Amino acid sequence: MARIPTLGPRVPTLDTRKAKPLPKKADPHYQTAEHEAWAAFVKRRAGYRCEHIDDRTGRRCERSQANGDRMYADHIKDIKDRPDLALDRNNGRCACNSHNTRAGIAARSRRMKS
Ligand SMILES: [Zn+2]
Repeated sequence: MARIPTLGPRVPTLDTRKAKPLPKKADPHYQTAEHEAWAAFVKRRAGYRCEHIDDRTGRRCERSQANGDRMYADHIKDIKDRPDLALDRNNGRCACNSHNTRAGIAARSRRMKS
C-alpha cells in the first residue's frame, strides 16, 4: 500500500500582500488637462514664488522655483470642500512643498471638526 505523500502545512502561509494598505489614489481631477492649465496659470501668476503669508509676521514665504524649491498650485479652498471652485483661478495660490502640505492638513482637520 502506497504511502500518502507528506501533507503540506495545514495552516496556509499568510499572504501579506492582502494586509498591505491600499495604494493612495490621487483625485482624478489632478490628472485632467484643465487642472494642468489652472495649475500652470496659478504658478506663473505668482512668479513661481510661494504666496504663503505668515500669520504672525505678515511676511511672505521666501521659497521659490528660482531658489530651487518645487512649487505647487494649491487650492485655497480645498476641492473636497468646494469642488465647484476646483478650476477657479481665484481659488489658487502658488505654494512651496511645506505650505502646500500644511494647507491640506488644515483643510482636513477643519472637515473633521465640522
Ligand atoms: Zn512657502
